[in-house]
Amino acid sequence: MAAADVGESGIRSGDEALPTPTAGVRCCWTATSHRNHVYFGRARILASPGIYISIPFCAQKCTYCNFRSDVYARALRTDYVRCLARELCSGDTRRGDTLYFGGGSPSLLEPEEFEALSAVLPHRRWAEATIEVAPGEAAPERISSWVETGINRVSLGVQSFDPAVARAAGRKHDPETVQTEIRCLRERGILNISVDLIAGLARQTALTWRRSLDWIERLGVGHVSVYMLETDDASRLGRELQAGGSRYGARSVPCESEIVDFYLEAVEQLRSLGLERYEVSNFARPGRRSAHNLKYWRMEPYLGFGSDAHSFSGRRRWSNVATAPEYVRRMASGSSPRDRVEEPGPKRMLEDRVLTGLRTSDGIRLGNDEWRELRPRARRLADRGWLIAERPSIRLTDRGILFADEAIAELLG
Ligand code: SF4
Repeated sequence: MAAADVGESGIRSGDEALPTPTAGVRCCWTATSHRNHVYFGRARILASPGIYISIPFCAQKCTYCNFRSDVYARALRTDYVRCLARELCSGDTRRGDTLYFGGGSPSLLEPEEFEALSAVLPHRRWAEATIEVAPGEAAPERISSWVETGINRVSLGVQSFDPAVARAAGRKHDPETVQTEIRCLRERGILNISVDLIAGLARQTALTWRRSLDWIERLGVGHVSVYMLETDDASRLGRELQAGGSRYGARSVPCESEIVDFYLEAVEQLRSLGLERYEVSNFARPGRRSAHNLKYWRMEPYLGFGSDAHSFSGRRRWSNVATAPEYVRRMASGSSPRDRVEEPGPKRMLEDRVLTGLRTSDGIRLGNDEWRELRPRARRLADRGWLIAERPSIRLTDRGILFADEAIAELLG
């Protein structure tokens, strides 16, 4: 985009280069890190960042959604893609080894929009390159543009295979659409496929949940995410649950104990299908764990681009402005899209590591001082059967995972 262009959304643009984020610095268990390297004991490992690209556009706003995505005018999307391409050009994406298009619904982008972003990304084989796809949006020509970009993994936001539950959530798909799209993806060589389910949607019953799990078995996917409904006031359904009303189906939302039962049933069913839980909400066959998401949970570096995208260098964290209109405004005026930058101290870093790492089946490794600090509380949790503490590692037991939030809060005192 040329300097001072006026985009289709009427927002002026500039061509001033954005500051390049510092990438590749990481603190680690032994607290010895240098630029671009991670040290585990005496071993030195090159730390490649994951690249996250935010596409905050959706065809409809789902009732349960608490993300900063929305249904925006097409003109804004056109400007957003141009601005995003500029931010990607000025960022250090070359050292990235994983790529993730998240949203929103990145699958909403037309092939030419996707190609505009692809053109400014490194042209090579990614260790893992994922796109989040809303069922019904995986048209053959779109799949072709994904394959051209090197996408080798698709995360399908199915949420429920029951059409009535999906409709109540604001989605339009049926299970046959999902089945057809998965077949198309496989025919085009994308074999690494993940399906998202949500336990606790309006109109969900034991029977509809069972049907969703049966579809997982039928489709034979290698990765499944099972989320429990969040009832905060950032979604329309969440607000209705808190304030009352019937427009979004709050009265037909299963109770908490039913939701826990759905989750436990999923754990059992997925285990029987060979999908092991490797994070509280994530299940995978061997070799199918999400390499990109593991970087978040292991606090490895990642660089985010676009609105509401977060980045972590290993030492510093920063995030971009939250909404697409604000992002385009900032970029168009030649300003940095960054909103917040912080450099957490050692205490905060340990807290973050516990918060994210303890949700994984591998748990976390502690340094000597960290071990000394956490040992008394870890011992109490171990006595309760929630935690396994084997110096220098701690991890939650199957039972502890059910109380993960409580266990983590107690461990951090
Ligand atoms: S749940 Fe996904 S598809 Fe639905 S509104 Fe939110 S980001 Fe968009």
